[in-house]
Amino acid sequence: MKGSCACGGIQYELKDKFLISNHCHCSICRKVHGAAFGTFGHAKAEEFHWIQGEELLTGYQSSTGNVRNFCSRCGANMPSVFKHMNYVRIPLATLDDDSGTQPVAHLYVKSKVPWFDIADNLSQYPEIVDLRELV
Ligand SMILES: [Zn+2]
Ligand SMILES: [Zn+2]
Repeated sequence: MKGSCACGGIQYELKDKFLISNHCHCSICRKVHGAAFGTFGHAKAEEFHWIQGEELLTGYQSSTGNVRNFCSRCGANMPSVFKHMNYVRIPLATLDDDSGTQPVAHLYVKSKVPWFDIADNLSQYPEIVDLRELV
């Protein structure tokens, strides 16, 4: 499946399916998405590659070892690749094809905005959890 930024300068491909996906309500995810929460799919880095526009990528290190990539032209959130962990985190809404995944949980619900009510039946966690335990 393929994804891209808003201006189309950056394109990427994920060859295999996602391992898991989730919503995150932490303040950093909210701010970088400009939305009530962020939604991410998680996959193996070896299944991921940039098709074009890698030179347009820039990153913001929101905490030690956690870089959040975005397009320097349009500002769209882009995947972050953590090669040493064989892990890629992809903002799910930047995919152009069906992601084939359904988020399993809401994380950092303690930071949720007051003007959005979670209306699904997914598990809710006050902070972060190890997603591998939810697979
Ligand atoms: Zn762009
Ligand atoms: Zn978050």
